[in-house]
Amino acid sequence: MKMAQLQRLAIAPSQLQDEKVVLTTQQQHYLSRVLRLRSGDRFIAMDGLGKWWLAQLAGAEAQILEQLSVQTELPVSITLMVALPKGNGFDEVVRCCTELGVACIAPVVSDRTLLNPSPQKLERWQRIAQEAAEQSERLFVPTILEPVPFATAISTATATHPYLCVARGSHSHLQQALNSVSTTSQILIATGPEGGWTASEVESAIAAGFQPVSLGRRILRAVTAPVVALSLTAAVLESGST
Ligand code: SAM
Repeated sequence: MKMAQLQRLAIAPSQLQDEKVVLTTQQQHYLSRVLRLRSGDRFIAMDGLGKWWLAQLAGAEAQILEQLSVQTELPVSITLMVALPKGNGFDEVVRCCTELGVACIAPVVSDRTLLNPSPQKLERWQRIAQEAAEQSERLFVPTILEPVPFATAISTATATHPYLCVARGSHSHLQQALNSVSTTSQILIATGPEGGWTASEVESAIAAGFQPVSLGRRILRAVTAPVVALSLTAAVLESGST
């Protein structure tokens, strides 16, 4: 299997013991139930401090096979939460954001989402992400999650730095907000559908810890906003200003 096809798992440095990763119950569940890996399957373990290993699942632990040298991945993990745009707009979001280095894409159905995605869509998006990851010489294919309601997504989000892109109002610019990010942060950026977020969605996201941010003075299309947000974040992370 090519490196770009391997799934990734964030681990704490303390989980590494004698060439093994001791997995938590939650991680075992994630690897076997969500990522559907079995004993003997390989994945990438990342310690959040810039070290990455090729690991092989073996029950409740994973054997470290080798340390990887990473040159095409961003130093901080970025999850993009995107309210599904209409038509095939999401295909382009997946393609561009994979090229830009996104780690995980979480499609969400918001109050004003017009599309009801068919189950085949997820496979299609995964194929697009795979092709884009290979084309842009990334080590990993981003994880694309099943679409869920926006309310579910914000209540289960675990990122240390969650941002909600809001098209109108006087919010801090995302670039400025990213000043507080460090190499151990996990960034999440949420962008809305064509009709924007409803006031109650903005309120709920803020209550869940999201910081509302602006992407500039112009109103961007629903498919443009995630690409702009990701380009900007990648530029901040790679210019060494974190
Ligand atoms: N119809 C909405 C309005 O008039 O406010 C605009 C929605 S915009 C087409 C789609 C999404 O892109 C927004 O929900 C937001 O997440 C994001 N977006 C677009 N332009 C933005 C900007 N200048 N700053 C922050 N987010 C923006």
